[in-house]
Amino acid sequence: MTWVITRLCRDCVDESCVEVCPVDCIYQYDGDNGASFPKQLYIDPEECINCGVCEPECPWEAIFEDEQVPELFTEDTPLNAKILDLKDQFSVPDVGEKPKPSPEQIEENKRKWGYTP
Ligand code: SF4
Ligand code: SF4
Repeated sequence: MTWVITRLCRDCVDESCVEVCPVDCIYQYDGDNGASFPKQLYIDPEECINCGVCEPECPWEAIFEDEQVPELFTEDTPLNAKILDLKDQFSVPDVGEKPKPSPEQIEENKRKWGYTP
């Protein structure tokens, strides 16, 4: 079991999750293949200790336990795991202060991805 960052993170990336992760296993992609690795963060499934601390910290509600990832976002689990083959192209980002989204922005972001739980 591991935790997964889904596409609800894309272009939001406020890094609250990075700040709380006790083992620094949440990464950004630094390579030039943006088509395969969109602008979001990624959890290394081998380093993640399954503590779940990151999930409530994510204002965009983008993080799920792998067994709970919504069907719409199933592809995001192997996408996070691709980090295992390309580790040298990922790094732990510096955390900066970002404005938090409003409830309306959070719902709009979910709708954008067709996710209406
Ligand atoms: S807190 Fe959520 S939206 Fe922000 S970078 Fe982490 S997973 Fe992405
Ligand atoms: S579950 Fe814990 S170890 Fe895994 S990414 Fe989240 S904070 Fe880090």
